[in-house]
Amino acid sequence: MVKKNLSLVKERIAAACERVGREASEVGIVAVTKTHPPDVVRQAIDAGIETIGENRVQEAEAKYAEIGDACKWHLVGHLQRNKVKKALEIFEMIHSLDSARLADEIEKEAVKQSKSIPCLIEVNTSGEQSKFGVAPDNLAHLVAHVFKCEHIKLVGLMTIGPLTDDQVAIRKSFSRLRTLRDRIENVFGHYLPHLSMGMSDDFEIAIEEGATLVRLGRVLFGPRGA
Ligand SMILES: *Cc1c(COP(=O)(O)O)cnc(C)c1O
Repeated sequence: MVKKNLSLVKERIAAACERVGREASEVGIVAVTKTHPPDVVRQAIDAGIETIGENRVQEAEAKYAEIGDACKWHLVGHLQRNKVKKALEIFEMIHSLDSARLADEIEKEAVKQSKSIPCLIEVNTSGEQSKFGVAPDNLAHLVAHVFKCEHIKLVGLMTIGPLTDDQVAIRKSFSRLRTLRDRIENVFGHYLPHLSMGMSDDFEIAIEEGATLVRLGRVLFGPRGA
């Protein structure tokens, strides 16, 4: 089932790219396996998935113990400072850096583990109170702070689209992330290749607006908790 879903998703990614003159190879899939058992991670890898996304460190830890480095692991969910050590042992990229305090903790632990960790700053582009992410007005300040952390490689921005059927609002949220990225690149003179945006219900819009990483759960693995 995963294989079939993945091939349908790839067709939809290709079509979205085609509409805006992008190459499908510019869009990476992060297959989000939260709530699913290790066996589903294995199915995803067998189907050709290279990168697995998890939103909780503890859950990822259990799966990582079984699957190990047969895939790349990305943390897509909120990171608590007391989970940073474990997170750095598992994940190759953190999509959810959203405060200076968290950056300091990641820096401290990366030094200890003598590694450098690629991170995306999560931005709250929708203004929804329930969402994590730095407010757009505070982004430049956080970017400046993160650039001082020598063991964090800032490689882009991440956002979660608004929870709505309003396609215009969703598109606006994604184009806002792209505009913010472009502005940060200009101000700091630092290339930020990645925009992590788009989930099962809105990934095509995200791709049209420049997504380089789409985080897909249900469209690949079916409804959670079913
Ligand atoms: C669960 C989750 C996803 C995937 O969501 P789907 O709607 O199942 O595609 C993507 N990003 C984050 C941060 C998530 O927590």
